[in-house]
Amino acid sequence: MELIATHLFTIMYWKKRSHEQIKEYIFKALDQNLDYRGDRPILGIPGTYLDTTEFYPDAPFLKDAPYMSAMVRNPNHIGVHTLSEESVLEVFEGTQKIEKELIKLVAEEIFNGDPDAQDGYVATGGTEANIQAMWIYRNYFQKEYGARLGEIGLVYSQDSHYSMPKGGNLLNLQSIILEVEQDSRIIKKESLETKIKAAMEDGVKYFIVIANLSTTMFGSVDDIDLMGDFFTNMNVPFKIHVDAAYGGFIYPFTNTTSRFTFQNPYLNSITADGHKMLQTPYGTGLFLIRKGYFDYVKTNEAQYIPGKDYTVSGSRSGANAISMWMILQIHGSEGWKYKMETLCDKTERICKKLDRMGVAYFRNPYLNIIAIKSKYLSKELAHKYYLVANSYEFEPEWYKIVVMPHVKPGTIDSFLMELEGEIRSQ
Ligand SMILES: *Cc1c(COP(=O)(O)O)cnc(C)c1O
Repeated sequence: MELIATHLFTIMYWKKRSHEQIKEYIFKALDQNLDYRGDRPILGIPGTYLDTTEFYPDAPFLKDAPYMSAMVRNPNHIGVHTLSEESVLEVFEGTQKIEKELIKLVAEEIFNGDPDAQDGYVATGGTEANIQAMWIYRNYFQKEYGARLGEIGLVYSQDSHYSMPKGGNLLNLQSIILEVEQDSRIIKKESLETKIKAAMEDGVKYFIVIANLSTTMFGSVDDIDLMGDFFTNMNVPFKIHVDAAYGGFIYPFTNTTSRFTFQNPYLNSITADGHKMLQTPYGTGLFLIRKGYFDYVKTNEAQYIPGKDYTVSGSRSGANAISMWMILQIHGSEGWKYKMETLCDKTERICKKLDRMGVAYFRNPYLNIIAIKSKYLSKELAHKYYLVANSYEFEPEWYKIVVMPHVKPGTIDSFLMELEGEIRSQ
């Protein structure tokens, strides 16, 4: 009982480091990488330093800028670094170790995984990480069950990100799109039942299931347990991938009883973008998966890569992993939690005002997205404040506010005042 109880709560903790400590750590790692400017006789590796006409390495600010230095030193993080003790390309051993530490930190502290039980890498973004998951599970069903292409279905809600149909299209998977309830954005139980039944009658036997941990438009969160229980009861092989591209670096900090952890057996892999909530540079989509799955996408033909390749992307910049590691370290778990809770408080304040005005909206209490029903505000007001519409092709039904760190209280106040003015004059 004791053990089960502790697993219900995510107790994450990592200490904050100072800028000086981070700088020292990164420069030490860069020094363990092979330097193309050094004395080592490097004839065979095709990478080299950046063109020096623009990127001169003796720019004085670089010695205080570890991330910029990493970009100029240009380490290649091709492959997956959690798979073995050896590095993929020994020449970039120093910074590849940082990526390994990053994966461990996020998998074990933020998503409560058991020690050394997860693999992962820094993909180009959420799109790639989602496609990586679909690719792995497609090959898994083919290899383990002898599944044919037409027998594998890709299941996701209508509110899911467009990387699902994109990935389905690339990988030749049949999309099974579940309807959601108009106001609550919850997946309709009867849609799940009828769509899956129909797919099975069409010969689909294996299911790749996407559970959203914050949809892009609404911040709605799918019920992973309900989905897992449903497919378990249907007695069909399935794997659940969680799309937390948006929610991955906020929800686990604001909801301490999150079901989206590796302690939940239904969760097999997860996408968490750095370049959404974590405020890292673009190119930082984290992909995490339980150990034992990467082999299904091993490209054996990658003969010249000592560690082989398992990713959609191939060559990728090590600076991206470094940027994520740095942001997590400078805040520590407590600092990041405080920051995310503050965003939720701000969001809550807006919601309270909207309630008082009688404006209908959708919001998950652990997230910083508010989707307002379009009939409550004019197109002009939505446009003035850069609210995002759910459709630019058809008449929008919703406009969303995303309470990001750049959103100032004054901007919120003026928006709410103008909205109130519009409502009064109706
Ligand atoms: C942004 C987003 C993605 C795609 O991420 P990119 O980094 O743009 O590729 C996928 N899913 C959700 C829910 C997102 O918000």
